Amino acid sequence: MALFALFGIENSGLALAVNLLLLFLVVIWLALVYWTYSDAHRRIADPMLVACATAASLFPFIGTVVYLIVRPPEYLEDVRERDLEMAAAQARLAQLEHQHCQYCGFETEKTFLRCPSCLRRLKEPCTVCGKPLDPRWKICPYCEAEVGQASEGRRARPRRATAAAGTPPRQSTAERPARPARDRPQSAG
Ligand SMILES: [Zn+2]
Ligand SMILES: [Zn+2]
Repeated sequence: MALFALFGIENSGLALAVNLLLLFLVVIWLALVYWTYSDAHRRIADPMLVACATAASLFPFIGTVVYLIVRPPEYLEDVRERDLEMAAAQARLAQLEHQHCQYCGFETEKTFLRCPSCLRRLKEPCTVCGKPLDPRWKICPYCEAEVGQASEGRRARPRRATAAAGTPPRQSTAERPARPARDRPQSAG
């Protein structure tokens, strides 16, 4: 009723509208104060700064706008997650750079076929190109030869060698089917 006197409003309908608008603004303001507190809580580790941000937002609307401008760009959770990922990546990199012999623990490199300390076999070389193969590989990724099939490898080597030397390939090897026996159909009927 004091508002009537304040604004000099006689019309009760208009006064109700003004009251509702003020109530609406107050609700928005309280919601912004709460939002500022919860957002600052997720972005700022220091509780003192969180309290400062919340106190600033008590200044209606402007405080929250200022907070939006100066707030940290990332959530604390994201920062933590990124730090963990960085540490994991660094650990992976260190593991790649420093491998160790599985038998004696001597420091080795990825391309070593034998351990230089205990002389044990670390990796099998590709039968075609001689590059060291990981035991999990099904084919040699360098020359596409199948792993563990020496005949395939021997067939592939002369073809490459003759192509380089300039002599024509033998007719028998060219006509022979390249598929291994197990892939052929068992019987015609
Ligand atoms: Zn060793
Ligand atoms: Zn190879």
